[in-house]
Amino acid sequence: MSPDIDGLGLIIDFSGNITGITTDYWSQFHHELHTLPFALFIAVISAYCARGRKLLIGCSSFLMFHLHLLCDIVGSKGPDGYQWPIPYLSPLYTEINLSVPWQWELNAWQNIVIAIIFFVITYKLIKIKGESPLELVSKRMNRALVKIVKKETV
Ligand SMILES: [Zn+2]
Repeated sequence: MSPDIDGLGLIIDFSGNITGITTDYWSQFHHELHTLPFALFIAVISAYCARGRKLLIGCSSFLMFHLHLLCDIVGSKGPDGYQWPIPYLSPLYTEINLSVPWQWELNAWQNIVIAIIFFVITYKLIKIKGESPLELVSKRMNRALVKIVKKETV
């Protein structure tokens, strides 16, 4: 999710709607961190923060970062038809903006099917292994979710 840090301007824009101060940070800066230099930065930070297997964690972070970019390129067209091209080599080289002509909208059926598939896989993993994505945030929350899911099966 680290590439979408550049989308936090949406919160400022939204709060501006309440206070009457108009900003457009989300449109201005979204996808500015969807770049190779930021991918390398995240990989190095991830490896540095890891307690063990630093090379594996760094490489995994780098690959997951690029999976995010691929998903954005393939399936995150805006409702206005704007494709949010990826300035992959920015700020070193700004002429390359990655996009595909067949990109589908963010709320398209393909993304809904993919989300349902991953929800089912996550549910099965919770049931079988007793582990959920909440484990990354809190072991206590993970245990509570596992308890709820396993109760449904009794
Ligand atoms: Zn993104």
